[in-house]
Amino acid sequence: MKINEIFKSIQGETSYVGLPCAFIRVTGCNLRCSYCDTAYAYEEGNEMSLSAILECIAGFKTTIVCVTGGEPLSNNETPFLLEALLDKNYTVLVETNGSYDIRTIPQRAIKIMDIKCPDSNMSHLMNWQNINYLIKSDEVKFVLSSRNDYDWTKAVIQKYNLPKIARVLIGTAFGAISPKTVVQWILEDNLDVRFQLQLHKYIWEPLARGV
Ligand code: SF4
Repeated sequence: MKINEIFKSIQGETSYVGLPCAFIRVTGCNLRCSYCDTAYAYEEGNEMSLSAILECIAGFKTTIVCVTGGEPLSNNETPFLLEALLDKNYTVLVETNGSYDIRTIPQRAIKIMDIKCPDSNMSHLMNWQNINYLIKSDEVKFVLSSRNDYDWTKAVIQKYNLPKIARVLIGTAFGAISPKTVVQWILEDNLDVRFQLQLHKYIWEPLARGV
């Protein structure tokens, strides 16, 4: 399968933030979000066998592996990779953009599913059925660029009662909106969510790759 990069870092987001983690960035994405910071993963990459990927990951000696992209589910081979990682007893996180049917992700993996806000210009491509397939250990993530995105997010959270279904994460598109402002809105509205910043963008340069 075509892989953009494999590296070891700390998890910069989700409730696993700060933990050592091996990352597998799968090449390809069907969306084009306005704030995308991994456009290099749309096409770039090299073909790797499953065994070569597993060998590379083993060398990092982490207990957590995050399969990301691009969009991992844009590659039909990703479910086989996930099963192979789970069989090696890794905690497997799968970051997916919410447009593909997430039932192809094994139950044992932890789904980190985006719900794309209006300012991403991709919210019309969300697969809303996916909300039915989330479980408590999964996480849904909203990336906000504006007050309009916040109001939309709040309405979606309320409509689906999302905190009862999965963990809910709210973050900001880097540089698009003040994190402090968004946190104030969350507190004013008592939203049952976890606010997050992309930690890796504060530790390293915001555009640094492989971190
Ligand atoms: S889904 Fe992710 S990789 Fe794809 S365009 Fe959006 S931000 Fe970029």
